[in-house]
Amino acid sequence: MVDRFGQCGLQWVLRASGGDGPSMGAQDIGTLVHEIAHDLGDTDAASYAAELERRWGRLGLPPGWLSRRDLARATAMTDRLATYHREADAGGWRRAASEQAMRVALGRAVVGGTVDRVEVGPSGAVRVVDLKTGSRKPTKDDLARHGQLGAYQLAVEAGAFAEHGTGSGGAALLQLGRAANKTTTLQVQIPLADDPVDPGWARELLERTAEGMAAATFTALPAREVCGTCQVKDSCPAQPEGRRL
Ligand code: SF4
Repeated sequence: MVDRFGQCGLQWVLRASGGDGPSMGAQDIGTLVHEIAHDLGDTDAASYAAELERRWGRLGLPPGWLSRRDLARATAMTDRLATYHREADAGGWRRAASEQAMRVALGRAVVGGTVDRVEVGPSGAVRVVDLKTGSRKPTKDDLARHGQLGAYQLAVEAGAFAEHGTGSGGAALLQLGRAANKTTTLQVQIPLADDPVDPGWARELLERTAEGMAAATFTALPAREVCGTCQVKDSCPAQPEGRRL
């Protein structure tokens, strides 16, 4: 949400007001993968694949090659998840929780929601891992200043997951969808305290965002990479489709 607000305040307020429109198939598949990851915990690829097949009918897709193709895509995601578990385990990161609710006050902002996965590392540091099932991933530079990951780190340090620890071990995006490489792609943001340029960047960003969200006006910030996939384009005065409003 921090990132979405930073990209375009108008998009954020329209989506937060229910302007997303009906859910799409890709989102449903992503939701199913998240659900299975949580319900089964860390397990092997075959168990995930069997569960995917068992629940697949719930998506209501018409039988045929499109449904089979999507199931194969979803299975590739859970295969990557199973591979990641082995890699995390080998690196000393153990799963402490999944789908964990959090709510913590950080200055003027209250950061709340549910995180996909909480891990504890070999030194006891805590990191939040966001499972991503889409086709886009941030660049290395964007990752270093990824607001959502920064907010997770601040939340860890403020005690949002105190039962697991309060030292931040960074935060990460685990790419399971088309944005992944052949096996797994874990994009790790280093601990805030280790940031060589500005260890305070996340707190400053959150303060700016909280101030902006409390404002009475929201500015449209057109940018090709954001507007191209914007789900509220029809209501945006910066776009030809939205000017009639
Ligand atoms: S179309 Fe672009 S400028 Fe308009 S709300 Fe969406 S992201 Fe913002």
